[in-house]
Amino acid sequence: MAGRSDATQQDEPKRGRGLTSRLADVRGISKNRAEDLARLGLTNVGRLLAHLPSRHEWLEPESGLEGVEADANVSIIGEVTACRPVTYGRPRFEAVLSDGEHRVELVWFNQVWLRNKIHAGVRLRVQGRTKSRGGTVQIANAKWEVLKPEEDDPAPTRTQRTLRAIYPAGDGVTTDEIAEAMGKIVPWAPALIEDHLPDAYRREKAMPTLADAYRMQHRPESDAEVAESQRRLAFDELLLLQLGVHLKRAERRATLKAPKLDATEAIDAHIRERLPHTLTEQQDKVVREICADLAKPTPANRLIQGDVGSGKTLVAVYAMLLAVATGSQGALMAPTEILAEQHFASIRELLSGSRVSVELLTGGVTGEARDSLLRRLASGGVDLVIGTHALLTESVRFKDLAIAVIDEQHRFGVHQRAALREKMDEPNSSPHVLVMTATPIPRTLAITVFGDLDVSTIDGLPPGRQPVHTRSVRTEQRDDVYAWVRARVEAGDQAYVVAPGIDAEGVTGVRRLVKELGEGPLEGLRVAALHGKLTRTTRERVMGRFRTGQIDVMVATTVIEVGVDVANATVMVVEDADRFGLAQLHQLRGRVGRGQKKSACVLIAGPTPTEVGERRREIMAAVSDGFVLAERDRELRGPGEIFGARQSGLPPFKVADLMRDRELLAMARRDAAAWVERSPKLALDEEITLRRRLLKAYGEALQLADVG
Ligand code: ADP
Ligand code: MG
Repeated sequence: MAGRSDATQQDEPKRGRGLTSRLADVRGISKNRAEDLARLGLTNVGRLLAHLPSRHEWLEPESGLEGVEADANVSIIGEVTACRPVTYGRPRFEAVLSDGEHRVELVWFNQVWLRNKIHAGVRLRVQGRTKSRGGTVQIANAKWEVLKPEEDDPAPTRTQRTLRAIYPAGDGVTTDEIAEAMGKIVPWAPALIEDHLPDAYRREKAMPTLADAYRMQHRPESDAEVAESQRRLAFDELLLLQLGVHLKRAERRATLKAPKLDATEAIDAHIRERLPHTLTEQQDKVVREICADLAKPTPANRLIQGDVGSGKTLVAVYAMLLAVATGSQGALMAPTEILAEQHFASIRELLSGSRVSVELLTGGVTGEARDSLLRRLASGGVDLVIGTHALLTESVRFKDLAIAVIDEQHRFGVHQRAALREKMDEPNSSPHVLVMTATPIPRTLAITVFGDLDVSTIDGLPPGRQPVHTRSVRTEQRDDVYAWVRARVEAGDQAYVVAPGIDAEGVTGVRRLVKELGEGPLEGLRVAALHGKLTRTTRERVMGRFRTGQIDVMVATTVIEVGVDVANATVMVVEDADRFGLAQLHQLRGRVGRGQKKSACVLIAGPTPTEVGERRREIMAAVSDGFVLAERDRELRGPGEIFGARQSGLPPFKVADLMRDRELLAMARRDAAAWVERSPKLALDEEITLRRRLLKAYGEALQLADVG
């Protein structure tokens, strides 16, 4: 169908024959049925058509009892001649279908309640797989349906396998009733839908028309048709949103300015000399992507993703030094004070002997020290500042902030970027923003879909990094674990022990563990605690002593979950591991394996192991790649809500599934970017319908100025 069916719509449709026709006016839909459907919001033809099936199922050809064989998928109609609930052994409900000559036995396990529904004398339609049981044919857990009296004795009608759509139902309306009404409109209504994709584009993508897609959803002839229509409808959702996001971005680019930073050869060489390692090829690739962004006078918004330990920090440092080298300021924001303190320590060391001034700003910096720092940030007396979200507080002003790096941001938000913009003296100007995350796919997806960031990926780990050998053990093996930790420490290594809480009751808490271990299996070793309730000075001292090897074993909460980087620490023990999610365990494991030495991670089940906890521990032992872990995580949790989708405030997808449809998403992103570049107002004739649907779906949520 070629785009323009406006004509069809403008011709006064015959009564009950348009997309906006009331269902009660549609031939074959009764007034009562229309009222029922209206309770589900299905008030007119278009809305009913848009009510997509939640799934499809195959129906077998119907038959009577004669000729039913074992090991076949069947759909049969027959009379119940005997039935009984069985409550001993495995509770079940049994029934027999018989026509006097042939019989089929039915059994439903754990469904004794069927006694209230199925009685001798009723006629049933059942569907399931037959098996041979002691000479008779049996079906276990068949799908069943009691035939209404008026349907009594229907001749088996379905002679071929057919695919049937199952609809989301409720409010007293059944899926069959919806299907019946749908049957009245599907023959003619889909053809009235205008296709918003230009015809040539649609063909190039090998997508069916929208009309065909709807027909195939409601009346598919094959599994392939279901898949084809789903692909089209999912792609539509993704493309519309991506077009919206890219239009928004174009809008912002047209209005916001950022400092233009040129990485000349001399500056580039100078920065690289400062770095403690030669950049890997992957890091280098990302650095070049960043440099290309920064050379433009519009604010960069880039997500740097890479697995735990892939070396994101160095990339961030490069970018900040570029800001300083070109005479502006840079900021690095970390999610925890400990991480900020650590970044501060290592960056200061890196810059020792240079003229670059670097300072720390966290909630712990107060009084005169804070006032003085704020003055110097505002006057340009400080080049680099490392901090926490304290950097975002209102009193913080910069003279000339060119780059803001947000590290390991768990709660990434548009708000932080807006707050950063406020730090600029000039209106409509913004620093370049880089967001670093080890967050595996789902959240990254959400960020790229709902936010408007470009993405750079660091694949793989720096050279020499070894995979961390991971073991899962039961609580009873704790003694062995700590004997082994002791041996490792005596051989010169350091260890982390992570517990779920500080004083966690009934479970292992940090304070109790430190005492227990120090007086027990680790007696004589230098054991210290690290958690969020310690003062900043204590924390810094403990971290510093651990870094310099004066502490052997650090017992900590998940404050060390992200970023902490001590190469000589090769042992990670997680107590009560079942209380942590896969992503967290992966982050924790990422604290070791940072040097050349072989590292290991031991996950201790905890006093009350859970089934899902055990699965997680097994997965951790088998998988080291963060992206694969993210997939497994999703399998464990089921396809639930993807992080960020809800916070985004955007309408949820009806068809698209961000994980399943990753490739469609990538295609939609690419195409949308090119599209907006080519036609920034979507004002071509063939784009009219597309633009209208886009504004309707996302105009408000994205606050798009009417692009028309
Ligand atoms: P993450 O991506 O998790 O933030 P880091 O930036 O902390 O990873 O880097 C992980 C480890 O790899 C650090 O110990 C760092 O010193 C080391 N590293 C980073 N880049 C390189 C490199 N190019 N060559 C060798 N080691 C590197
Ligand atoms: Mg990091």
